[in-house]
Amino acid sequence: MNAENARYLLNNGRLVALMSAAYSVIWWCLFSPSYQLNGHAFWLASMLALSLLFYLYTRRYSQRQTGELPPGLLSAYFSLTSACGVLWAVGILLFMPQLVEAQRLLLMLLVGALLSLVVVPNLLSIRSFNGFALPMLVALLVNMQGRDSNEWAAYLVLLLGCALLNVVLRRAETLVTSNFSEGVRHRARAMELADSHASMRQQSERDGLTGLYNRAMFERHLQQHWRLASRANTALSLLLIDVDFFKPYNDHYGHLAGDQCLSLVASLFNQALQREDDMVARYGGEEFVIILPNTDTKGALQVASRIRTLLAKAKLRHEYSAAASYVTVSIGICCLIPSAQQSSKEIVDKADKALYRAKQLGRNQAVVAARGEV
Ligand code: GH3
Ligand code: MG
Ligand code: MG
Repeated sequence: MNAENARYLLNNGRLVALMSAAYSVIWWCLFSPSYQLNGHAFWLASMLALSLLFYLYTRRYSQRQTGELPPGLLSAYFSLTSACGVLWAVGILLFMPQLVEAQRLLLMLLVGALLSLVVVPNLLSIRSFNGFALPMLVALLVNMQGRDSNEWAAYLVLLLGCALLNVVLRRAETLVTSNFSEGVRHRARAMELADSHASMRQQSERDGLTGLYNRAMFERHLQQHWRLASRANTALSLLLIDVDFFKPYNDHYGHLAGDQCLSLVASLFNQALQREDDMVARYGGEEFVIILPNTDTKGALQVASRIRTLLAKAKLRHEYSAAASYVTVSIGICCLIPSAQQSSKEIVDKADKALYRAKQLGRNQAVVAARGEV
């Protein structure tokens, strides 16, 4: 039995306990020959005490909505329902011999009603239902000797009813179990689909090597920030970054080392960005691009300087660079307040020209495009 079904049983266990307590009071009022402190009163007190124990026990565990249920819990539940059944059987043995025929028939009717009522709470455990019902049926049988055909007929109807309830319980259990496994299958499938959707999305948005946004995502973000900045009349900065002497790096250290180097450099870009709206993407090859919304030239230069400092600290060895002994980058910066008439291509073109100038000036530096032109 799975945890969900066990919780169903435990939640309804309280109902069984309350029903048992109420029923035993009705039973005692109907069949007790005297209102004295005798065996009948003692039986009622025991019934109420057991019902209370049952109630408290099932309440304690049904409130635990998360986590595993402790082992042996269902056996304890079964023992409690069986104990209730046994006490009811004692009640039958205690009260029945002193009753007249009409009362005995009423008693059997009450037993039938009680068994029908406990079916719903015990829907998922035939064992518990039978643990409750069997002691009562045996106690009734003990009392059947010498009874007339009416009482035997009532008893047989009761037996038949119990057999029928067993069939119903078996079907309910099968149905719930198969629904449960189907539910588990559906949930697993839904999770698989969500995973594959997430990974497809990841593939369509990210660059496979560095994990940064890809070119297409950069274009999309740029359009978006261009429109926003143009509407709000705020500055937008763009940094075009190119790794210096990367061809010789590849040629000497190998393509694999080149890939590792690009991944490391990409991770440094992420470290250099501090605002949530900033975005870095792989523009292509060993070129990267950063969008800084709401940022002026001063701010863009700060980011560029942070990148260069991080690279200087990382000191990724590059013996074949004429710019430094470690991997460096050249950065072209363009900062402007977009207007509705301009195209976003402009900011990229200007940053590209600034980058070209940075390369010309000896690399390992940042150059700002002045008034849109270098
Ligand atoms: P410069 O300082 O002028 O930028 O010189 P450079 O050598 O960096 O520039 P160039 O454009 O001549 O060479 C770029 C090199 O980057 C060529 C290519 O092999 C390498 N490259 C581009 N993409 C990748 C990649 O994904 N992995 C690796 N390992 N290398 C790449
Ligand atoms: Mg290049
Ligand atoms: Mg390069």
